[in-house]
Amino acid sequence: MDCVFCKIVAGEIPSHILYQDEEVIAFRNINPVAPIHLLIIPRKHISSLVQLSEAESSLIGKMVNTANQLAKEASIAESGYRLVINCGAQGGQSVPHLHLHLLGGRWLSTALG
Ligand code: AMP
Ligand code: ZN
Repeated sequence: MDCVFCKIVAGEIPSHILYQDEEVIAFRNINPVAPIHLLIIPRKHISSLVQLSEAESSLIGKMVNTANQLAKEASIAESGYRLVINCGAQGGQSVPHLHLHLLGGRWLSTALG
């Protein structure tokens, strides 16, 4: 599978993993845009949010719970943070493997796009 995040799941390319279990993996963004910028992904290759089946939708709750936990561990739970999922080209998605961005550690723009 020629997918950079599947390669991270498989350990074929290096990453700084902060959490993993049987369903999800969380690691540092290689090109962070905030002091805390983590990515939470399902181990399973799902190419984007629009490809998520109803049967798989509990994964989103798992990804959000993981992000909330990581925000606490990074001490940004009180100051605030943002969770983002980009979907498709116009949505700003560049890696075609579903991922949740956890951003924090600075004031984030209030503009939505
Ligand atoms: P998106 O634009 O929502 O698809 O976000 C993709 C994100 O993946 C970008 O913020 C990239 O910096 C990040 N990224 C791409 N390759 C890697 C990698 N090998 N390790 C960690 N993060 C990556
Ligand atoms: Zn993948």
